Amino acid sequence: MSSIGHIQCKTCDLFLTMQCNFRCRHCFIPDDWRPSHDLDPQREWPALDGALRQHDVLHVHLLGGEPLLHPSFEDIYRAVADAGYFVSVTSNLSLLRESHVRLFAQWPLLRMRVTLLGVSDAAYVRCGAPGVAGRVIGGVQRLLSAGVRVEAVLPMQSGNRGEADGVARFCRGTGIPLRVITQYFPRLDGSCQTTACQLLPSDAEADVTKLRARYGMVTALATEQNSCTAGDLSWSYVPGSGLIPCALAAQCPHSARG
Ligand code: SF4
Repeated sequence: MSSIGHIQCKTCDLFLTMQCNFRCRHCFIPDDWRPSHDLDPQREWPALDGALRQHDVLHVHLLGGEPLLHPSFEDIYRAVADAGYFVSVTSNLSLLRESHVRLFAQWPLLRMRVTLLGVSDAAYVRCGAPGVAGRVIGGVQRLLSAGVRVEAVLPMQSGNRGEADGVARFCRGTGIPLRVITQYFPRLDGSCQTTACQLLPSDAEADVTKLRARYGMVTALATEQNSCTAGDLSWSYVPGSGLIPCALAAQCPHSARG
């Protein structure tokens, strides 16, 4: 579910691809998911559009993997926006092009949620990503200059713990809200590398409390968010799997609808 102003609307997480140019240690997606899992817009979008209307979904959230890696990202974005949905995107922003910035400015984007792993290349590399901090931060600034609404998510883990202050300072300086995530699902192939890099809950809570006290714009930890709405107010669409309550339903201990 998403909030637009004071209105809460039904939402669908639309996974365009499970491919990503990063290999974050906290990521639930295994490295070897194949391109056949990419959304085929010609074949899948018309039926999905019909199903979303049946469920009164108003907001479509494009994500992945890295959604900007999908070769038809711009066409999919236009199709979803043209069908009348509010559209948001979650991206690591490392592949942002000028054509994307123009697209988001022309066809209003509800929100770009950018994953910020740190403010230094070293933090990115420690988290399992290429050292592209400058490119990501530059991308945020380009979007803000184009009038696009941006929010940041910091997945805090052992590789970037020391950068949380820098990220929060950047967010405060640019006026964008920051959400911190500190808990991770096991990877879909059963690997525990995601939880191995997780901070101890007491350390995570202490870090977030300090960030809030210093920077103010830090919002909830995952554990403080509302209860699960999968299948009631939110759905997921994983290419080839159809519309399902939640992409993680089979693994999530909070889902009663797996
Ligand atoms: S950027 Fe996101 S999708 Fe890509 S590896 Fe990192 S957590 Fe996974």
